[in-house]
Amino acid sequence: MKCNPIPEREDWFITDRKPTICPRCKKKEVRKAVLGYPSPEDFNNKNIYLIGCIPDMPIDRTWGCRNCDAGFWKDTPRNIAALGGLVPHQWPPEERTEKEKSKLMWKWFQEWKKNQVF
Ligand SMILES: [Zn+2]
Repeated sequence: MKCNPIPEREDWFITDRKPTICPRCKKKEVRKAVLGYPSPEDFNNKNIYLIGCIPDMPIDRTWGCRNCDAGFWKDTPRNIAALGGLVPHQWPPEERTEKEKSKLMWKWFQEWKKNQVF
């Protein structure tokens, strides 16, 4: 299995398949990520990871760890482009303020949208 941690984010990984064991907390709690409002069945489903209403930037995770919230992305060209190619994936250094961070993320998100071929 390829599992490349993304620099600057120790809890983000690009992998070629769903990790059985979370490389971060070593628990078998990695599940398929589901975005948005879950159906009542999904809400009680222990076999999925709920992203909820705060999407990942710049692209949603494919899987998530229910124990430590580590994020995993399938190594599709689109995900790689969004996370490490067309869009800078470097997380703003910690000395930046929250306001600066969200401004940067917004800029990257706009760049990323421009590069998408739908
Ligand atoms: Zn974990």
